[in-house]
Amino acid sequence: MIEIFTPSELPRARAVGALVGSMLRRLQERTTVGTNLLDIDRWTETMIREAGAESCYVDYAPSFGRGPFGHFICTSVNDAVLHGLPHDYRLRDGDLLTLDLAVTLDGVVADSAVSFVVGTAAAPEDLAMIEVTERALAAGIAAAAPGAKIGDLSHAIGSVLTEAGYPINLQFGGHGVGSTMHGDPHIANDGRAGRGYTLRPGLLLALEPWVMADTDELVTDDDGWTLRSATGARTAHSEHTIAITEDGAEVLTLR
Ligand code: MG
Ligand code: MG
Repeated sequence: MIEIFTPSELPRARAVGALVGSMLRRLQERTTVGTNLLDIDRWTETMIREAGAESCYVDYAPSFGRGPFGHFICTSVNDAVLHGLPHDYRLRDGDLLTLDLAVTLDGVVADSAVSFVVGTAAAPEDLAMIEVTERALAAGIAAAAPGAKIGDLSHAIGSVLTEAGYPINLQFGGHGVGSTMHGDPHIANDGRAGRGYTLRPGLLLALEPWVMADTDELVTDDDGWTLRSATGARTAHSEHTIAITEDGAEVLTLR
């Protein structure tokens, strides 16, 4: 289902977007060498409760996971890239961490993800890979405007990833958001310009380029949730929720 938000409903989308952006910023600031992934999950639970919001993840039980998820945030470390289930692990210097967070506030969802390196021992190739996913996200946002097609966004994202030399997995990508976390349309991280659904004002989209350094193949952990690169290569993921406006797009989940 594709949901369209009226101008009078947009303030609710802005409010939940600002909440998710500020939560990710605070979680990133608080995360250091030695932080346990379960600490991050607990901090997230507290922030959601204090904001009067609801988690999109705790009861999440899609066909591809061993649901319900049972935690408040996705924590994907190094070769884990999507749906990382928080578990008893203390972060080490140089770990590449992705936090992916979606919450509902006042009936509207915002969804955003950030990758960063913990501590001071960042590998240059990790920082470069993160920068590419951020640049691909910016290109997708720049292509988003009324009248543009979903394929234009996919093409903009995919061009940046391909030029940087990363293989692209088309199984998981961006999506519409609204009253639920995963609505239509699907936004693949590569595709042909000029194809697909035409964007219009009031559409909320989560764009989320992600890559694995040398493969497009995923494997699932024994936990039934965490998706890792099949080769053990490291990974990165950047996501924002945006609103299509009369003259372009507004990023709702700025940090
Ligand atoms: Mg997300
Ligand atoms: Mg998403």
